[in-house]
This record gives sequence, structure tokens and C-alpha cells, in this order.
Amino acid sequence: MSGVQGSDPAATTGNAEQSAEQATEESVTLQELLDEEESLQADAAAVLGGSDEKNCSYPHGYVDRQALYACSTCTPPGKDPAGICLACSYACHEGHDLYELYTKRNFRCDCGNDRFGDFKCSLFPAKSAGNRDNLYNHNFSGKYCRCARPYPDPERTEPEEMVQCVVCEDWFHLNHVGLKGVAIDSIDELICDECMKAHPFLWKYKLNIGSLSSSVSLGSAVDVETESIAKRPRIEICDPADKSSVEKDEAHCIFSRLPEPESVPETGAVWPTSWRRILCRCEGCTSLYETEKLSFLPSPDDTMRAYEKRGEKKREGAPDPLMNALNGLGHVQKIEMIDGYNNLKNCLGDFLRERAEANAVVTTEDVHNFFKGMKEMQSKKAAAVPGFFCR
Ligand SMILES: [Zn+2]
Ligand SMILES: [Zn+2]
Ligand SMILES: [Zn+2]
Ligand SMILES: [Zn+2]
Ligand SMILES: [Zn+2]
Ligand SMILES: [Zn+2]
Repeated sequence: MSGVQGSDPAATTGNAEQSAEQATEESVTLQELLDEEESLQADAAAVLGGSDEKNCSYPHGYVDRQALYACSTCTPPGKDPAGICLACSYACHEGHDLYELYTKRNFRCDCGNDRFGDFKCSLFPAKSAGNRDNLYNHNFSGKYCRCARPYPDPERTEPEEMVQCVVCEDWFHLNHVGLKGVAIDSIDELICDECMKAHPFLWKYKLNIGSLSSSVSLGSAVDVETESIAKRPRIEICDPADKSSVEKDEAHCIFSRLPEPESVPETGAVWPTSWRRILCRCEGCTSLYETEKLSFLPSPDDTMRAYEKRGEKKREGAPDPLMNALNGLGHVQKIEMIDGYNNLKNCLGDFLRERAEANAVVTTEDVHNFFKGMKEMQSKKAAAVPGFFCR
């Protein structure tokens, strides 16, 4: 957790006996804690806000993108995998062991269908036996990355920085996709090594992105809400005529004009912000995306950025800098933030009240323990957690 380090001893809570030095190094101010809560709330709203927390998403069919969970209590590893929507995670699987899948695209809620045996969904029981277009990977049995480790990984000693592949939607440790030492907030989108191997045409874009981006200002934030294909900037190597019919014309295919790469790297396919705008939309390329089951790629609405933006919009009076804050977070931080937020509202008040009644300084360690306790509680669910966590 960042942002909990205090710097103003005069503003710390409680004990005046506390040495100024210690207060400077270890204390946090109440305001900082409240700011932290506010930022957690805002971030959680952006991640979960794009999903409905009250109604099962099943009637909406295969939802473009939604927050998703797998329940190891109901569908443990070894059984057919199943995914449940946000509302079902609260209403139907309270106290169960859930795997956090973050978000996935084109998924229909499985809660209570044949994969669950006798268990029935309490929100929307009238489901068909299964959802045959759902795609499942090992995340649904609590494994992530090519190393197939759980998250959080009890045996891991280094930080667990992970990014999600925009194609297969699995999560990867940076050092397992050739990105060791790369700053996680410099990575906007990743396509994993296996997916690049499965769709080698993407290397042609990747290796020419410098020339393609010269007139598309990649790397700068784009308002996905207002972006449309018709409005997106022209790519200079394409015909400059500004008609969408031209875009579809194979004679103006951007892709076919790109030089073939002599050799392709084995790893490290990270992409700058808004890179999907450079993908050719001609008829030939569109059917290529269909054949390769990548039709979602050229759609600006498919990105996490767009999903988070929708979530943010739902939050009343949400300030604009919110998205910037969230965009800089990696998988681990986002998960911590969601875990934390679920319990934070109830717990933080109690925690602060207790410290105030004891006239005690709130130290960084207290806060670390606070978040650690909530995290343990999240993973152990109903199990009793010692300490001051939501008694
Ligand atoms: Zn559901
Ligand atoms: Zn369950
Ligand atoms: Zn349900
Ligand atoms: Zn790994
Ligand atoms: Zn992948
Ligand atoms: Zn094309």
C-alpha cells in the first residue's frame, strides 16, 4: 500500500509523548487514512462500477466485459470450471472461497447452472444448463501465468507484479513474459508470448509501430467514450481521404503495406496506449480478425481503459484524475484495492475509533497490519481472524 507514510508529526493522531522522529517516520495522519479510503473507494468504483452488484448479469447474455469470480467451494479445481458475476459473488457465494478473475470479456454468468450440481442461483435461477461460448482458462482454478501459480502466491518472496494479456486474458508475472525490470505502469497493454505465436500477423504491427504511430499520437490518453472509428485520426501511410468507405476498401489496406519483419522476437509484446486504433479496418483485415477470433481487438470499447471509464462514470461526482490513478496500478494493486474495499468501509471506522480511544498513534505498521488482516480475511472468508478486524 502506498500513500500511508506520514510526514507531518503535528497532524498525527494521539500520543504527544511520541518522539517527533518516530512520528515523522512511522505515523500517518487521519487525513491520509481518509484520503486512502477515498482513493480505494474511487478505484473500486472504477473496477467494479462497470459491473452490476445487485442483479445477476445472466439475462444480458455474453457481457462485453464484466468483473468475474470463480468459486472453489462450489466448483473446486478438478471439476468443470465456472465463472460467476459480481452480484452472484455477493448474493449466492457469500463466505465461499472465491478466485478473483478481475474482468473477462464475452462471458455469461454460470451461477447455479449444471456445473454447480444441486446448487441454485438465488438471483437468477432460470439458467440454461451451460454457456457454450464461455471460454475458461486456468485462472478459474486459481492459477495464473505460464508458471501456473496461485495468487497471492504463498511461496513467492519477490513482488507479484502481473499484467493481463489482452487476448487470452490470463495474468502474467513480468519476468515470465520477457519484461523483467520494466516499470509496470509503463505497460498499457500486453499480448503474451503464446498469443503472439498464435497470431503472428500482430508482429507486423508491433515491429512497425514507430512509423504507424507518428500520426496517431500513441501513448497519450484518449477519451474512449467519445472516440469513434469515424473520428479517429488518419494514419498517414493510409489514403488521406476521410471517408469510412475508404477504410473498408482493401486497396487502402494499411496492413498489406507494412514491411514484413525479417525476424520476430520471442517475447515482450507490450503496446502503447490506444495502439488498437492503428489496426486496419479493411474488409480483408476484418475477416482476418474474425478467423483468428480477434474481432474484439479493433474495438475501443473492449479495452480495460474503456471498461474502467464506464465504471468511473457511474460514480457520482467522480473527479477526472481518477482514471489516471487507476491506470497506473498493476494487477496486484488492483486486487488489493478490491479486497481492501470490500471490508474497508466496515473495518476502518472501527480501527480508527479504537486507536483514538486508546489515544494511540496510528503507525505505518498498524496500517500495514490492518490491510494484511483484511487480505487474510478475504482469502479465508468466514474463518476467524484475530486482531481488530471487524469483530
Ligand atoms: Zn450471476
Ligand atoms: Zn460458491
Ligand atoms: Zn447467483
Ligand atoms: Zn509466472
Ligand atoms: Zn495471451
Ligand atoms: Zn487491411
